[in-house]
Amino acid sequence: MADYVLAIDQGTTSTRAIVFDHAGTIHSTGQMEHEQIFPRAGWVEHDPVEIWRNVREVVSIALSRGDLTHRNLAAVGITNQRETTVVWEKSTGKPVYNAIVWQDTRTQKIVDELAGDEGPEKYKKTVGLPLATYFAGPKVKWILDNVDGAREKAEAGELLFGTTDSWVLWNMTGGPDGGVHVTDVTNASRTMLMNIDSLTWNEDIAADMGIPMSMLPEIRSSSEVYGKGREGGFVPGVPISGILGDQQAATFGQAAFEVGSAKNTYGTGNFLLLNTGTELVHSENGLLTTVGYKIGDQPQVYCLEGSIAVTGSLVQWLRDNLGIIKSAPEIEKLAASVDDNGGAYFVPAFSGLFAPYWRSDARGALVGLTRYVNKGHIARAVLEATAYQSREVVDAMNADSGVDLKELKVDGGMVANEELMQFQADILGVDVVRPQVTETTALGAAYAAGIAVGFWKGEQDVVDNWGEDKRWTPSMDDAERERLYRNWKKAVTKTFDWVD
Ligand code: ADP
Repeated sequence: MADYVLAIDQGTTSTRAIVFDHAGTIHSTGQMEHEQIFPRAGWVEHDPVEIWRNVREVVSIALSRGDLTHRNLAAVGITNQRETTVVWEKSTGKPVYNAIVWQDTRTQKIVDELAGDEGPEKYKKTVGLPLATYFAGPKVKWILDNVDGAREKAEAGELLFGTTDSWVLWNMTGGPDGGVHVTDVTNASRTMLMNIDSLTWNEDIAADMGIPMSMLPEIRSSSEVYGKGREGGFVPGVPISGILGDQQAATFGQAAFEVGSAKNTYGTGNFLLLNTGTELVHSENGLLTTVGYKIGDQPQVYCLEGSIAVTGSLVQWLRDNLGIIKSAPEIEKLAASVDDNGGAYFVPAFSGLFAPYWRSDARGALVGLTRYVNKGHIARAVLEATAYQSREVVDAMNADSGVDLKELKVDGGMVANEELMQFQADILGVDVVRPQVTETTALGAAYAAGIAVGFWKGEQDVVDNWGEDKRWTPSMDDAERERLYRNWKKAVTKTFDWVD
């Protein structure tokens, strides 16, 4: 019996396969990390072939651990790290270059040239995004400009572009033998190439970036049957029927369907999305306008998004580059060894600063140091950085929407950290709420896929299945909250103008 839905979560650091049952609970999982390739300062790449191999591997692990075969699956959903760009050859399926990852800043010159005299907001009304190295379009341009022969092949119609959702879907549905070349509206809304109101490719911007239209995937809704697993593959004949970029998937999995509801995901970076309904809201405060989801023929739902490049990856940096913790969870004990940050503030502007600043000239700073500061204080400063950055984004959202956030739903790897969650509630001054299933990204993709095939009836099933696990309530007094936040803001100003 097809009693389960499989979600493939192709993330920044790892790929997961999670099988969900009808109640939205996890039945079994598989997970593999892939290599983070740093060829130069500011460059971040993945090997798309390794990613595709890991997809196959993690699905087979999840199915065998769950004692299932593909016949038990009603549908497959895909969710993915957004913006990360793959360009491959249509006839062979071979990538022409590594995937250029969303954190990669190599496109700075391209972005500055595109902005010209009009500045970074040049395309903002059209695509909802400021010109920044973060987005996919300029990364495609970099590949076409820099890989030998790529531009000629692209112009001859021999190359395909996709974010990793498209890469995985194309391979799952047949690759060079009839693979389906599709993306969904949420992923397309991160390329800088899609009209944010009509959800169609913008030929003028593609021309500005020198990207042939023939490379671009077809834009489809987030919940419909795109194709079936190829015969002889790992899910033969199973409909693949949901695609959502990871942050939109988490919003869906958190059942944030009402206008004004929001979630914050604490992973490699942090991403706070606020549902603004079917109305497009253009931010005046450094947020992105993005598509939240679109179910089949229904109208699309928009979100305002505050993207923060570095949060959990700062914990990894402490582990891998400084070695003062051996594993990410160890930071909690180290931070709890001191009462406060000892005056230290750590602004992790490793990829410049994203929302609400969008300063690509910023670089990281650890300030407020005295002889008193020890590694416990630095651990605290690292955790606090996540909370302050989230507060900045919440302030921007409150200003843009004119409504104050009442509570914040959270998910992602860092929400296991209770110390951080309490501090987040304190710094925001609102409740922070963790759901029972924190794998909301995979869950959202599973729901989108299951809804398309009638396994779930619609959003109400998602709402009914959502359950609260734990709630943190603010306990810090107002003066202390504002003192800390004021110091943080001062620390941020020390990170500007580091790139000449
Ligand atoms: P992604 O999906 O972006 O790869 P995850 O949601 O899996 O990320 O979260 C992993 C991140 O969370 C890592 O950057 C890791 O450093 C951080 N992390 C994991 N556990 C903890 C913890 N207990 N305290 C603080 N950070 C943590």
